[in-house]
Amino acid sequence: MTFAHILGHDRQKDILRRALAAKRLAHAYLFEGAEGIGKRLTALALVRGVFCQTGRGCGECPSCRKIDHNNHPDLHLVEDDGASIKIEQVRALQKELSFRPLEAPRKICLIDGADRLNPAAGNALLKTLEEPTGGTLLILLSARPEAVLSTIRSRCQRLPFARLPQAAVKKVLLDLVDGREHEAHVLAALSEGSFKKALGKDRDLFLEQRKGLLKGVTALSSGSIIPLFDFAAALTEEKERLTEILEIFQAFYRDLLLVQHGASDEELVNVDLLEKIHRVSARETIPSLLRKLDALAACRRQLERNVNRQLALEVLLLRLAA
Ligand SMILES: [Zn+2]
Repeated sequence: MTFAHILGHDRQKDILRRALAAKRLAHAYLFEGAEGIGKRLTALALVRGVFCQTGRGCGECPSCRKIDHNNHPDLHLVEDDGASIKIEQVRALQKELSFRPLEAPRKICLIDGADRLNPAAGNALLKTLEEPTGGTLLILLSARPEAVLSTIRSRCQRLPFARLPQAAVKKVLLDLVDGREHEAHVLAALSEGSFKKALGKDRDLFLEQRKGLLKGVTALSSGSIIPLFDFAAALTEEKERLTEILEIFQAFYRDLLLVQHGASDEELVNVDLLEKIHRVSARETIPSLLRKLDALAACRRQLERNVNRQLALEVLLLRLAA
């Protein structure tokens, strides 16, 4: 993976390329931006740039190959174990960094998910950031930079990454889904510029399960309360994917609102459900749709505050069924 292979992020790549060429790389970077938009790929392209034996990040030389196979002895990758990055991991890293680089001109450490460093681990890492040994380069990645210890943030050069434009994501997805236009469109729209989201575990949720979920929510009626509570109970079980499910509902009601405002079909997310969109839109009004979108936003805020999930969902569904 070289800089040229990474979609978008031209400014970020340019900054890094120039710093690399001028041998003026910072000793620590914090790449900030949503999950799955290319921060890690960009970091690995930078590692190649530093380690490559041809100096071009060629992808062919032994150094580049080792980076791609994640077995370069001077590249140290630290990730969370599903929840947090622990102090033992930081200590093990510091031990590695105390040795000379084996093959490369310097050691590089990639910390993916810097916001998940627990406080003890974060404080331990500060020492490395303050006194980097032997020209070690640290690259920290985070989708939630506001949750990174401020003392860590202030010691890094921060490089923000924007979400990729939907059209650019769709273009790449089209190739990956064998030209299925609707599929690429829906995935690009719901993944918000994240390939990880578009092609990862959410893919089936975004494509097939989305249809069932929307069927469920549009069939609700405030006059028949039992199916509504059953649906709320089923959603309550979806702890891991609830955010994405609420995003699917939001995209649907936004589509309905767009139709009410006279938008063309290509502007919608759910281009494969046009018949349903127009049918449901006909029984709504702009104020009723705005109330439903408000209810969805309120529910998401409540869930972030760890309120009773089932209760929040019941209230939401009552408001969506109104
Ligand atoms: Zn190379």
